Amino acid sequence: MISTISQLLLLSSIIVFSFVSNFAQSGVRISTVEELMASVKSGPCNNKERLEAVKKLFKEMGAADADIAVESFKDIQNVVITKKGKSDDKVVVGAHYDKVSDGCGTVDNWTGIVILANLYRSMAAVTPEKTYIFVAFDQEEIGSRGSEAMAKKIAKEDRPKYCSMVNLDSFGMGYPFILENASSTPMVKFAKEVADGLKVKISSAPIEGASSDSASFKGKDIPAITISALSAKWPEILHTSKDKIENVIADSVRIGYIFSLQYLVKIDSSPCDQFRKK
Ligand SMILES: [Zn+2]
Repeated sequence: MISTISQLLLLSSIIVFSFVSNFAQSGVRISTVEELMASVKSGPCNNKERLEAVKKLFKEMGAADADIAVESFKDIQNVVITKKGKSDDKVVVGAHYDKVSDGCGTVDNWTGIVILANLYRSMAAVTPEKTYIFVAFDQEEIGSRGSEAMAKKIAKEDRPKYCSMVNLDSFGMGYPFILENASSTPMVKFAKEVADGLKVKISSAPIEGASSDSASFKGKDIPAITISALSAKWPEILHTSKDKIENVIADSVRIGYIFSLQYLVKIDSSPCDQFRKK
C-alpha cells in the first residue's frame, strides 16, 4: 500500500520538480529528497534535546549563531530567525518542535521543523519582497503556548504589518492537507490555487478537536494557515508510539516542502490585502 502511495507521490514529485527547477535561475535553492530525509532522521526522540537540535539544524542550513534568537516567555522558548526583505510586510513561517511523550514525534512535527529550516536555506540567496520570520515554536502539544505567546506580544497597531502566517505541522503520510479550522478562508483558497498550478493533489477539512499554531495568529486577525501532508490513517500514527521514522514517506515530505516553497514564493509576489478579504 505504502509503495503505491509512494510511487504516486514520486510521479507528481517529478512534475513538481520540473516546475520548481525554474526557481534555480532566480537563486532559490531546492533541497533534494535525500537532504530532507537526512534531516528528518536527525530528529531526537527526547523532547529535552529538541531545542538544541533545532538550532543545530538552522546552522546546517546556513544560519549564523548571531541570526538565531531564542525568545523566552517564562518556561517557553521559541527559536526565531528573521530574513529581511525589501518591505516591512511580515510573513511568519512556523512549525512546532515539541512532541508528545509517545513515539519520536517524527511526523508530528520534526518533519515540519525540517521543512521550515529547508525553506530558510532555499531563500538564502534571494532578497524577497517581504520580510520572513521563521519560528520554531515550543509547547504546541500543550495548548499552542509558544505561538500564543508570540501572537499576544504583537501590538494591536502592528497587526496589519503581518501579511500572513504559514504553519507547517505533520508531514510524511500523504499529499498536502489543510487544517481548515485553524486556517483563514482566503489562505485556504490561495493554497488550492497554488496546488492547482503545481498539479499537486491537495485536500482540506476541518478536524474536530484538532488545532495548531496558526490558530494563535488567526485569533489576532492575522491571516493564517496550517499545512500538513497526511492521509486518512493519521490517527493511527500521530500521538502514538508509531510516530517514528519508519512511518515517514519520503516523497510526502518532499512534496510538502515543494508545495510550501511555492506557496511562499506566491505570497511574496502577492498584495497582502487579498489574504484579509472576507
Ligand atoms: Zn503537531
